[in-house]
Amino acid sequence: MNWRDVQSKQHKVAKILTNALKNGRLVHAYLFIGDRGTGKKEVAYQFARSYFCPHSDGIEPCGQCSECKRILSGNHPDLMVLKPDGRTIKKEQVANLIKEFTYRGVESDKKFFIIEQADLLTPQAANSLLKFIEEPQSQTVAVLLAENRYQLLETIISRCQLIQFTPLSQSDVESHLTNQGISKNIARLASALTQDVQEAKALCEEEWFANAIASVIHFMEDIYIRSNHAIITLYEEFSLQFNDTVKLQTGLDLIIIWMRDLLNLHLDKLDEIVYIDQMEKLKQQLLNVSIDSVVLGLSLVLEAKRRLDFNSHPLGVMEQLALRLQEGAGSYV
Ligand SMILES: [Zn+2]
Repeated sequence: MNWRDVQSKQHKVAKILTNALKNGRLVHAYLFIGDRGTGKKEVAYQFARSYFCPHSDGIEPCGQCSECKRILSGNHPDLMVLKPDGRTIKKEQVANLIKEFTYRGVESDKKFFIIEQADLLTPQAANSLLKFIEEPQSQTVAVLLAENRYQLLETIISRCQLIQFTPLSQSDVESHLTNQGISKNIARLASALTQDVQEAKALCEEEWFANAIASVIHFMEDIYIRSNHAIITLYEEFSLQFNDTVKLQTGLDLIIIWMRDLLNLHLDKLDEIVYIDQMEKLKQQLLNVSIDSVVLGLSLVLEAKRRLDFNSHPLGVMEQLALRLQEGAGSYV
């Protein structure tokens, strides 16, 4: 990774940090806030390399010298990484770290901390850390990583420069998943459902997910092509697959994506189609239903989602939805 890579994904972050490096105006503590998968940790290490590398052009580290190499291999004596031990990062962990720092044959006055999951620092741990960092003579930089600023202690936030990472785009998440060997059609659907990389990955790895997708495709075929089957499919297949409210909400989201695909196909926006391996079925359905009925259908599904939130009887909600979707599809053809 270099700063150009950071710039392409996290433009603002790159700008703030490289400006600070260029002007030699680093603050003692940075707080990187952003979702999983947004590259907080990678950027923290890149920042550390820029900080230590004696051959950098002021910003970009050389990547070749022993400073750079030891940071990459996790062996730099002046770079410390703190992670939670169990559910929290405890005061003793911070104390040990500081002690170790002091005893080691440190090579310069420069020190760099990376604190992962800083939202798990106990108040005492946070205070001793910040006190150490803010010693007037110290050339210490700390980078704290966290997903959500609202889970952080006010004492931490107030003493750090906040660096906000922008969430990943749908296509970022998709390529992240396919790079890990997940098939493109599944990755595409998961990233359309959530832009949280871990959540999307977990979904892809669940056997249930592939079956759920198959059930939704079957259900949509019944709605738009073989409408007298829809209620049977609902009871015999769909309701077994989506047997709790959380799953059913995912099922409805998958239906919404299907309907959007129909609209995008109608508008010839082929790049935006999510069910890429179902083009034949989508085309066939588009011959059978009008665009108006798909638009109406979308609003019916959104309404069903809202009703589920209010704890209506799930199967009752689905049955009514199926009937109304069929009516809508029939009346417009
Ligand atoms: Zn270097």
